Amino acid sequence: MRVAVVGAGVAGLVCALRLQEAGRVCDVYERWPGLGGQAATLEVGQGHRLERYYHHWFTSDRHIVELCEELGVAGAIGWHPSSMAFFVDGRSRAFTTPLDLLRFSPLKLRERLRMGLAVVRLQRSGRPVSDFEGETARTWIEREMGPAAYAKVWGPLLRGKFGSRADDISMAWLHGKLTQRRRLEGKEARKELLGYPEDSFEPLFTALEDRIVAGGGRVLIDRPVTALTQEEDGWTVRSGVEGSFRAGLDPAAFTPRSEGERYDTVVATVPNDIFLGLAGHALDADYRARLGAVEYHTALCLLLELDRSLSPFYWTNVADPALGFVGLVEHTNLVDPARYDGRRFLYVANYVEPGHPLLDLDADALLAAYAPGIAQVNPDFEQSWVRQRWRFVEPAGQPVVTVGYHRTIPPLATGVPGLFLANTTQIYPEDRGTNYAVRLGQDAARAVLGAEVPA
Ligand SMILES: Cc1cc2nc3c(=O)[nH]c(=O)nc-3n(C[C@H](O)[C@H](O)[C@H](O)COP(=O)(O)OP(=O)(O)OC[C@H]3O[C@@H](n4cnc5c(N)ncnc54)[C@H](O)[C@@H]3O)c2cc1C
Repeated sequence: MRVAVVGAGVAGLVCALRLQEAGRVCDVYERWPGLGGQAATLEVGQGHRLERYYHHWFTSDRHIVELCEELGVAGAIGWHPSSMAFFVDGRSRAFTTPLDLLRFSPLKLRERLRMGLAVVRLQRSGRPVSDFEGETARTWIEREMGPAAYAKVWGPLLRGKFGSRADDISMAWLHGKLTQRRRLEGKEARKELLGYPEDSFEPLFTALEDRIVAGGGRVLIDRPVTALTQEEDGWTVRSGVEGSFRAGLDPAAFTPRSEGERYDTVVATVPNDIFLGLAGHALDADYRARLGAVEYHTALCLLLELDRSLSPFYWTNVADPALGFVGLVEHTNLVDPARYDGRRFLYVANYVEPGHPLLDLDADALLAAYAPGIAQVNPDFEQSWVRQRWRFVEPAGQPVVTVGYHRTIPPLATGVPGLFLANTTQIYPEDRGTNYAVRLGQDAARAVLGAEVPA
């Protein structure tokens, strides 16, 4: 059986690997001239690579760590103590340990205790996520932690990720965040460890590609799929000419090659709108409606190389909308700058709604727009500290998980013979991430194998 996998992100590469191990021949088509999708890397100079968007793993991320072990790249994972801060009321406040929470003066002591206890109670309760699907995170937080906790902490955090949809976000989403990532008691209570692979995520992607190629498959980068056509006995996959990625994301915008290729099965790992563009004609109305029901917020990320450190924290959540961005992620406060010959890297993170004016700015204009906000975090900051800068935009950066979201999740099997979808909208109730993309890729391979008609 020949399978075409659309997308060489984590889910696509893992799906192809597992199908190949089961004796199927896989070709992976990728629009971008590189591997890794949302976790893809770039060369930042002197042979060093970094992810376009900040990335780390939690100690609970077992699927991706097991995959690294299997591929022989786990030895390179460093586990580093995290340091977090909250920028609120004009300054950054440490927010790493339970003690930091007790010292968090924007809330009254009584409110801080109530907030911490609510998290511990939730973690201990062992209640299933289905108990939390009917209400918003806001309702739950205001009831269990009090209105001040929402106003000062959780509201700004949710607005950072989901903008105007913050008040509609399902408690099921927050339940996942609060219960899976880290416990406020036990071993990791005092010090959270975050994982990062020594030489970036690239060796993991290369190891996946090598296995796929060694098994007789192909990984075709800079080869976007432009159309999926259902045939009597399978699918024809048409792809675009080299350099098509410059035309954007819409499959209709790419110049197709003259010939298509035949496959028995197609697994697409692309966002919903792209999947609709490729195969919408073949899907039934219910499946199309599910795809259309999911909203995404765009990840807008400015990566800066600085000539010095900006702050003492790895991760600063910005709870003040006046700063114009939602987070600062100082990668070289997690990973030793010596690893990069002493160079310092900072991501300025944002999630915005489609069409937001910040999306029209190039890297220099974005830096100019953010500079006053960065200077609020460190008043000494000047643009002359910036040695290099890169801007990245991911329109499908964050599915917006509102109440009732679980009812709209499209199944892996589309209902059309030989056509499967595996993308970030199906990661639920956990927040999407590379760990769950591994699980999704494996689930998709199982779904393909399970649907095969015995010969
Ligand atoms: C800002 C940001 C920060 C993040 N931080 C973390 C983190 O700290 N830790 C973590 O684990 N995860 C993090 N993630 C999430 C993680 O990167 C994703 O969940 C994961 O990489 C998704 O993998 P995927 O394969 O499902 O999808 P994707 O990576 O989106 O892969 C889909 C692929 O399809 C390709 N494609 C699109 N159109 C076509 C076409 N027409 N033909 C062929 N190919 C096409 C795309 O180029 C892409 O490579 C972050 C994501 C973002 C945006």
